[in-house]
Amino acid sequence: TQELLIKSDKLSAVGQLAAGVAHEIRNPLTALKGFLKLLGARSDKEKTYIEIMDKELGRIEFIVNEFLLVSKPQATHFVERTVGGIVQSTVELLQPQALMNKIEIVTDLDPTLPTVSCDEHQIKQVFINVMKNALEAMAHGGTLRIEACHLPQDKQLKVRFVDQGCGISSERLPKLGEPFYSTKEKGTGLGLMVCYRIIEAHGGFMDIQSKLGEGTTVEISLPITSTAVA
Ligand code: ADP
Ligand code: MG
Repeated sequence: TQELLIKSDKLSAVGQLAAGVAHEIRNPLTALKGFLKLLGARSDKEKTYIEIMDKELGRIEFIVNEFLLVSKPQATHFVERTVGGIVQSTVELLQPQALMNKIEIVTDLDPTLPTVSCDEHQIKQVFINVMKNALEAMAHGGTLRIEACHLPQDKQLKVRFVDQGCGISSERLPKLGEPFYSTKEKGTGLGLMVCYRIIEAHGGFMDIQSKLGEGTTVEISLPITSTAVA
């Protein structure tokens, strides 16, 4: 356990450093955006360039803000949220990585889903970890399906991440969530451990089904706080 503690200490030091870097990026970024607004376009071509630069700077700003949101250690703070909204913003965050890997992300989110009481940043961190694993498992492209549904009589709603990746053998399946269990060269094996911990703290549970060579389905159940309003 001593070794484990040292390792998680190191991780949080790296996380703090990364959050610090993201924070430092924000100030020069604001200056860049400001001065760009002062630039007068002398031609239509220049106008287009300035628009593209402004849009791309906005994108950097969005990513930096999202990054700060998930990397900062925060006290648990429960609020009423729709899971669909959290899924959407997570998808937006990971879309570039998906495109790069020729992966299509398809969402099927019931718009009448009841709300859940959750720590939005933590749930987002779970969705990011699970989605990143799915993208990393689909080295040759494919489809990542994200479904969220709720049966009227249930006290839980379900969010399902279905990938067409490499899959996990039945021998390795029980090992998931163990700290530092990773099959990736640059993996940490901490992602799923954190996910299990967060979902448990929310009174929910996470179930992983997989078939080697076919794909993996991660199902997350979260207790609902209200009944659906049509
Ligand atoms: P890491 O991603 O750093 O390896 P994780 O805790 O996120 O750590 O995942 C642990 C291991 O579980 C991964 O190394 C991989 O072998 C396996 N795994 C998790 N999700 C998937 C998935 N969607 N498809 C295939 N394997 C997966
Ligand atoms: Mg991972």
